[in-house]
Amino acid sequence: MKQSNAVILSNAPIARDVFKMDLRTDLAPMAKPGQFVQVAVPGFFLRRPISVSWTEGDVLRIVYKIMGNGTDKMSSMKPGEELSLLGPLGTGFPIKDEKEVVIMGGGVGTPPMLKTAKAYLDQGSKVDVILGFNTAQDVFYVDEFEQLGISPVVCTMDGSAGVKGTVLDGAASAGIKTDYVLACGPLPMLRAISASYTKGYISLESRMGCGFGVCNGCVMTDTNGMQVRVCKNGPVFPIGKVVL
Ligand SMILES: Cc1cc2nc3c(=O)[nH]c(=O)nc-3n(C[C@H](O)[C@H](O)[C@H](O)COP(=O)(O)OP(=O)(O)OC[C@H]3O[C@@H](n4cnc5c(N)ncnc54)[C@H](O)[C@@H]3O)c2cc1C
Repeated sequence: MKQSNAVILSNAPIARDVFKMDLRTDLAPMAKPGQFVQVAVPGFFLRRPISVSWTEGDVLRIVYKIMGNGTDKMSSMKPGEELSLLGPLGTGFPIKDEKEVVIMGGGVGTPPMLKTAKAYLDQGSKVDVILGFNTAQDVFYVDEFEQLGISPVVCTMDGSAGVKGTVLDGAASAGIKTDYVLACGPLPMLRAISASYTKGYISLESRMGCGFGVCNGCVMTDTNGMQVRVCKNGPVFPIGKVVL
């Protein structure tokens, strides 16, 4: 983990309230799939945790949704401005020797799954991708997965794009039977996945202060009753490890 003054290369909307930001930073080559950075937004004391979505050379991409004042401020920042990043943080998705994996992303849980998909493709695994959103205006990253040679199954809750329903409806509709899942998304989605799959990993979100295991602001309980810190022991955990 290190601190880096990253230079914003681009920052533009890609869906409703969702922005893609490319940054030049020496953290980029260090980041593994599913890890995150703590972004110091000018004028705000606490850093904001945002997943690393993609890296290429010294360029690191994040994709974020405007949820409050911090991400709203980020959306107004311009190329050439600097952002202090701390990272890469967290465990990330292990890249296991699996022949087939199904990758599921829900809303702004989708970004870290792009780099994860690439890592599994690179080792020769068959990769299916299912993306879930609320409505057509929220859909993003279909092109990015297609550039990897994957045709993602898109699902929306209101049926305005792709399959109507959740990512599990998407898996059923596309006949994807792979039993090893890697997922990031909202808690109800992760609960539903954990009820249907026993093998694989999920990435959790929790409000966090420091992001590196010191403040204990992001503690959850595992199935043995032990406390786990989402930032340091996670955010990626084996399915069934943490009480959701
Ligand atoms: C490991 C991890 C990875 C994440 N990756 C992404 C991502 O790739 N894209 C994305 O859009 N969002 C991501 N989030 C959620 C993102 O951190 C919050 O939406 C963001 O911090 C909200 O900040 P805000 O100032 O706009 O909102 P406010 O509500 O004004 O924030 C107030 C405070 O709460 C904290 N906070 C608020 N919501 C969350 C949350 N859900 N998780 C953690 N802290 C929160 C903020 O850090 C801040 O300190 C991630 C969260 C975690 C834990």
